Amino acid sequence: MINGNDLMHLRRCIELARAALEAGDEPFGSVLVSASGDVLAEDHNHVAGGDHTQHPEFALARWAAKNMTTDERGKATVYTSGEHCPMCAAAHGWVGLGRIVYASSSEQLAQWMCEMGVAATRVRNLAIHQVIRDTTIDGPVPELAEQVRELHRQFRDKR
Ligand SMILES: [Zn+2]
Repeated sequence: MINGNDLMHLRRCIELARAALEAGDEPFGSVLVSASGDVLAEDHNHVAGGDHTQHPEFALARWAAKNMTTDERGKATVYTSGEHCPMCAAAHGWVGLGRIVYASSSEQLAQWMCEMGVAATRVRNLAIHQVIRDTTIDGPVPELAEQVRELHRQFRDKR
């Protein structure tokens, strides 16, 4: 169930994804929010340098492991413009973070890439629930997913 507060954080994720795009990187952005609703950390993709593990959700999982207690992590929410890839979903699970809310799904991304003639990635498109157990997951949000799709279209047009 996605409320107005969730939408606000998802919109911030899309802003971060746009910032990544403007910096020449793939458009993905994520925000880590505490149980009390405070934004603790945010990041966007940094794979343009060649390290394709530099995803924002992975960075937030590491940040959480370093800066939050187990209890705090379990009650925190990660918002993201695009559903976690298997690597990031596993990192989320390993550090014990809580709910995940995404604007667009991995399935949608795979579909968009296919439509744009982009070859499938080597890492499979698995849904988060296929990678980790016991996490509340909400998404996608149709009108926001359309904005994410547009950012990916712009990224591909630039290449
Ligand atoms: Zn990832």
